[in-house]
Amino acid sequence: MPSLSEETNGKISQLMPGATIGIIGGGQLGQMMAISAKYHGFRVGTLDPTPDCPVAQVADFQIVAEYDDKTAIHELAERSDVLTYEFENVDADAIDEVRDLAAVPQGTDLLRVTQDRVHEKQFINDHGTPTAPWKSVDDAGGLREAIREIGYPAVLKTRCGGYDGHGQDVLRGDDDLDRVLARAQEEGSFPASILEGFVDFAFEASILVSGNGTDLVTFPIVHNEHRNNILHLTIAPAQVEPRIEREAHELAVRLAKGFELAGTLAIELFITKDGRVVVNELAPRPHNSGHYTIEACSLDQFDAHVRGIVGWPLEQPRLLSPAVMVNVLGQHVAPTRALIAEHPEWNVHDYGKAEIKHDRKMGHITVLTDNTAATVDALEETGCWNDLND
Ligand code: AMP
Repeated sequence: MPSLSEETNGKISQLMPGATIGIIGGGQLGQMMAISAKYHGFRVGTLDPTPDCPVAQVADFQIVAEYDDKTAIHELAERSDVLTYEFENVDADAIDEVRDLAAVPQGTDLLRVTQDRVHEKQFINDHGTPTAPWKSVDDAGGLREAIREIGYPAVLKTRCGGYDGHGQDVLRGDDDLDRVLARAQEEGSFPASILEGFVDFAFEASILVSGNGTDLVTFPIVHNEHRNNILHLTIAPAQVEPRIEREAHELAVRLAKGFELAGTLAIELFITKDGRVVVNELAPRPHNSGHYTIEACSLDQFDAHVRGIVGWPLEQPRLLSPAVMVNVLGQHVAPTRALIAEHPEWNVHDYGKAEIKHDRKMGHITVLTDNTAATVDALEETGCWNDLND
């Protein structure tokens, strides 16, 4: 039998086709990783509580269990050569416990840092990179003190576990502060939190960086629009002056080096009205705002992730065409499907989720275009996304 593991590229063992990649989490990010892994010739296993989850539909095997089920993580590691994950709230201790069974090229530092907003902000600042002003807050007194320091408006976020705006409150004045304190008193506890100054941004952006333990490559900076705290569309590339583009690439490389990055890391940014580039948060994995790379770049974020964790070389991705990516949430499934026949330019992605729910990410559409503004208008004019305009 041929060896599945060649010698190392830096610290990462180079795996060959036939080796098995175990993915913790079976959603759309894992599915797109798995599709990439499959055509590179790897076997894929996943751990997810939902039978026939998106990854299972393209994987070789699924272990049906909760994400924090240590026995199941152990089994996945035993059956895999390398472990990765598609979301950040994975039990880092459980992964550390199986590192003698399967390689974990991403390590667990990246997970631990990105699981806790205080550690994350500290890491970003320690690597010479600006964030909103912030303060760790553990109780009512701490919140009052943080407000005195940071001022209104501010955003209060739970340190751990929040996503897409969940676990967040915007505090615009004392009324909001009193409301948050009353709620904490009612619940009998004050969750460990962070208070951030509200960033007066011109727009939100993001940049992806991928590594294989040795080389780092960056993707173009893109412009993101959210509705109800959920990504609605991504415009690639963002229209920014070269200085902003350069700063974004430089900070991406700095942060990635700090993690000795393997795989793909997403960095969410605010571009302020006075032209500063401020980091909002990090995602230690491929990202919704990077889906456009599948059609629009010479290397996509999932291929870069897979190649990175199996120690293959990475070539700097090139943007082959400007693009617009729009998310298809549960409420957009029927209207977009009804229009597929009229839109040959739509690159339609459907994640195969069995249950269609309001605001659930069900798929996305990417359009390659020479005129991103006209394409955004054309997408909005279909009326498919009208519910987001309220
Ligand atoms: P997050 O979960 O931290 O990505 O926050 C969700 C969304 O809330 C972001 O995409 C922004 O639109 C908004 N937001 C979060 N933090 C701030 C901030 N410090 N200032 C302004 N807007 C923010």
